[in-house]
Amino acid sequence: ARKLLELEGVKTYFYTEHGTVPAVDGIDLVIHEGETVGIVGESGSGKSVTSLTAMRLTSGKIVEGKITFDDKDILSLSDKQMREIRGNEMAMIFQEPMSSLNPVFTIGEQIGEAVRIHMKYSRSRARERAVDMLKLVGIPRAEQIVDEYPHRLSGGMRQRVMIAMAMACNPKLLIADEPTTALDVTIQAQILDLMRTIRESHGTSILLITHDLGVVAEMCDRVVVMYGGKVVEACDVQTLFASARHPYTQGLIRSMPTLETDERRLYSIKGSVPAPGSLKQGCSFAPRCEYATDLCRTTMPELEPLAPDHSVRCWLTVPGKEDNHEAALT
Ligand code: SF4
Ligand code: MG
Repeated sequence: ARKLLELEGVKTYFYTEHGTVPAVDGIDLVIHEGETVGIVGESGSGKSVTSLTAMRLTSGKIVEGKITFDDKDILSLSDKQMREIRGNEMAMIFQEPMSSLNPVFTIGEQIGEAVRIHMKYSRSRARERAVDMLKLVGIPRAEQIVDEYPHRLSGGMRQRVMIAMAMACNPKLLIADEPTTALDVTIQAQILDLMRTIRESHGTSILLITHDLGVVAEMCDRVVVMYGGKVVEACDVQTLFASARHPYTQGLIRSMPTLETDERRLYSIKGSVPAPGSLKQGCSFAPRCEYATDLCRTTMPELEPLAPDHSVRCWLTVPGKEDNHEAALT
């Protein structure tokens, strides 16, 4: 399939009073047409900044790299050209639907806004489009709901409205940042189901940002695992669950709840994500890694291909370097 979005060596830095924070530190990422790619990591891993960077919505500075979307060089477009793409060819849904919906406009006005801007629809045609979109996302009584205000809706219904807004212009790419995290389990399943249905009916590519590997298992074709602003493992979803090689990815998989595990005795990865830029050298996972050696603490490994669709950034998988680890484990 054709590449729809590609990030090559992208770096997004924040300049704070405490110094430079490399939130995204050299990311490569490809999403093909019709594909769903997950970016997985804990909060602070750089996954949200990566998605905002792809839309040029980050408040950080994109200091390096190339972003190509639908054959357009995103970083060389004017702000006006970028506005024509956003909400039209690429659209985003967020974790907190309430903070993204405007309380003073009706649901229909908000869903219709994108088609009024991008497709020059009249007010009445935009309202019709909004009704159709509400039906698409499974909101009952669409003809009434369209003229109501967001506070009238439950959390799950608001997330459906967000998806209706994002899909109004039939975007090629939908970026969803933790779209179900704020919802309870039953509603979560319904929203994922809805996203799958829309993906199939519209051929939409999806970039899904999540910390939840259960969501990845249900939704994604491929996955990119981020840690400390870098990709540490990238593979297809079958490989992820069958043979992940990075110790961080393995830790995330072990910490997934299963029907058999007692929630209270879940494995969790000890320690927390380091503040980006706080480690000046070595593998950023070393402080939390049970396999870390002196080599790990001094030298950052590269992201190396292990198989055609599997890359890992870890000394354990580099031929000739794995001996260090046998020593460390004895
Ligand atoms: Fe652990 Fe070393 Fe691999 Fe980093 S490079 S994940 S510290 S084994
Ligand atoms: Mg986030």
